[in-house]
Amino acid sequence: MADVSLLSASDQSDPTIRKLVQVTGWAVTLIGCLVALLLLRDDPVQWGRVVLNLCAGLVGVAALALVHLRRWLLAAHVLVWGVWVFVSLVAAGNGGVKGPNLLNYPVLIVLSGWLLGGRATMCLLALTGGLFGFFLWADARGALPVTPANNHYAYAAYLAGIVGLTATATLLSRRSYLGRVGEAQDMAADLAARDTELRKLLRVVEQSPESTVITDLQGRIEFVNDAFVARTGYARSEVIGQLSSAFSGNGLAPAQLAGLQETLARGESWAGEQANVRKDGVTIWESVVVAPIRQPDGRISHHVELKQDMSERKRAAEEIHRLAHFDPLTSLPNRSMLIERLTGLQARHQRAPDALNALLLLDLDRFTTFNDARGSEMGDRLLCAVALRLSERLGGQDLLVRVAADEFGIVLHGLSADAAAAGRRALVFAEQVAQALAQPLPLGLQAGDAAEEAQLQASIGITLYPQGVDDLPLNAMGRAGTALHRAKHGGGARAAFFEQGMGEVAAQRFHLERDLRHAIGAQELRLYVQPQVDGRGEFTGGEALVRWQHPRDGLVPPGVFIPVAEESDLIVGLGDWVLAQACAVLAMPAFSQRRLRMSVNLSARQFRQASFVPNLRALLATTGADPTLLTLEVTEGLVIEDFDDAVAKMRELVAMGLEFALDDFGTGYSSLAYLKRLPIRELKIDRSFVTEAPTNADDGALVEAILSVASHFGLRVVAEGVETREQVRFLEQRQPDMVYQGYLFGRPEPVAQWVERLAL
Ligand code: C2E
Ligand code: CA
Ligand code: CA
Repeated sequence: MADVSLLSASDQSDPTIRKLVQVTGWAVTLIGCLVALLLLRDDPVQWGRVVLNLCAGLVGVAALALVHLRRWLLAAHVLVWGVWVFVSLVAAGNGGVKGPNLLNYPVLIVLSGWLLGGRATMCLLALTGGLFGFFLWADARGALPVTPANNHYAYAAYLAGIVGLTATATLLSRRSYLGRVGEAQDMAADLAARDTELRKLLRVVEQSPESTVITDLQGRIEFVNDAFVARTGYARSEVIGQLSSAFSGNGLAPAQLAGLQETLARGESWAGEQANVRKDGVTIWESVVVAPIRQPDGRISHHVELKQDMSERKRAAEEIHRLAHFDPLTSLPNRSMLIERLTGLQARHQRAPDALNALLLLDLDRFTTFNDARGSEMGDRLLCAVALRLSERLGGQDLLVRVAADEFGIVLHGLSADAAAAGRRALVFAEQVAQALAQPLPLGLQAGDAAEEAQLQASIGITLYPQGVDDLPLNAMGRAGTALHRAKHGGGARAAFFEQGMGEVAAQRFHLERDLRHAIGAQELRLYVQPQVDGRGEFTGGEALVRWQHPRDGLVPPGVFIPVAEESDLIVGLGDWVLAQACAVLAMPAFSQRRLRMSVNLSARQFRQASFVPNLRALLATTGADPTLLTLEVTEGLVIEDFDDAVAKMRELVAMGLEFALDDFGTGYSSLAYLKRLPIRELKIDRSFVTEAPTNADDGALVEAILSVASHFGLRVVAEGVETREQVRFLEQRQPDMVYQGYLFGRPEPVAQWVERLAL
């Protein structure tokens, strides 16, 4: 145990004890001086005793001086040890144990006990014991001087002083002691009160429904409450001492986490949401406050994390969102989702106009009758079956919603930038939907419950969306509604466009495509060939041009059906058919022996087929056609789409001996940079320039420019649509070895007529 002194070298010591030092100092001074003074009355004066008492008094003075300097402990030491030395000297002179001075020792021991603490007092006790032993031993040997005759006054003064000092010291010490006991009691009461307060707070924290975590400044967990244990599934022993970040903050993005740490480093509180993972792996959403815990001196010692479970609230919010945005019967999104989607599409359109979308409103025909006849439960089942069937027809981005009772809305995404094409696609979709609904819809609760089936027809209203940057979702709904109304009015079971003209065009194109698909298989295509001649009027070859012998409409020109075919994969089959026919003709001796060339038009989609080159190679091999007599006509548009791929294919074919012609030259981009890199042998001047060339100066100049480009690149030139002698004159003046193609020299004729004529 440490030796506790009630005095310290500095100013911190007990004031009562300090007083004791002071009083003792005075007492020693007074007693020493008074006794010395009284001893002067002895006769003869014993100077030794006088001096010793005076020295004792001076010890008191020295102590007082140190008190003045606030060196309390030193003053106490000087007092105790100084007085002890002089008293011992006086005692030795006064006969040792027989002298009157022994009274001093108990007083000194008491003073030392209070002022200097246990260790010093033990020393003092030991010294005093030793001294007494020495006195007894010396006395027994008669070595000590005999007790001198008493000076009664001095003795009385000495006794009074000693007794008074003892009393004062005891009372002062008692006061100090009692004061301390009182303080200790107050402190104990205070501590007990605080303890109660703390227990109360701890219980609050413990039982709080908010999960509470207290960490040290390094983030190591020191405390978690019951709510934390219950919510996360971690036992206390698993988390105490671990980093808190291992159990929370998992839902924070790195930037958020950095923000949290920064806020805490500034000594501020952070509040936010976190997705934290329970021990069983389930994610819970918590609203979290992290706050610093400060000590009374303002220093931050810990952080507390208070977390509120939000999963329930989140689930409720999601449920509310679901109820607000989804139809409970079919689980399809509802009208408000439709509006939301249309709004989003409009915003996208405003940023960058791209492909058009279509909004379809579909209403079941005679649903009310069905409902009345078979009951509303069957009605509900029918609606669910329709929802299912419709959703099977949707593309990934498309949206199907239930707008009202038996009305569904469909948004078809990104149909085409071209309104006509977009309209056609929407109509194709509507047709497919009508067919899908016409198939029996199962209404039984179990699959295959054949008795419970229904067949349906529906009316569909269609509009394209958005029509301009200020087209609103509600406008589109209105348009589709009007169209739907029209379809219903027309007797139902049909689709109607809001844009009526578009409806008709789309329907025509739609039927055309359907018929054409049939035509290719049904041998309704015909190959026509138009002659090409040189300046002397000699045949150089011909261009293969396709016709469609329609069973009802007669001969259909390609301008009508080629664009439709080009929008679908039909062009591939059609183009292959033409190529096969052309090669068959080329292979005929009448053709090949005269080295007549055959030009065949190529479409972009057809040329883009990966199998195009190998197929053509195989075709040439099987027909035996001479590849060097085949010219493929391509347009700039075809080349531009995927320039590198197109050029690679062209080079491959050129290597086989084929030639390429650039068709309709002058109408497209006519970029010389492209021209330079394309492996072409022929330019075909478009009919539009040829027609006006002799009469219109601009067209004339353009033809001249084309001719100079052609001669620069060393290309053969074919003039298309030559109908008059003037045109020929104009052209031959500028380009003597021009090739002509036009009604002036011959119209496209069925290939059979050609073959016949050549055979003659
Ligand atoms: P094109 O390649 O520019 O073909 C020339 C067109 O001009 C042909 O129309 C031809 O009959 C017409 N024409 C020729 N000389 C004259 C003339 O003196 N006066 C007038 N007014 N017209 C003349 P056609 O046969 O109706 O073909 C139209 C377009 O259809 C062709 O334009 C071509 O782009 C396309 N086409 C025709 N057959 C095929 C084919 O087999 N495959 C592909 N991909 N496209 C074809
Ligand atoms: Ca052509
Ligand atoms: Ca042409």
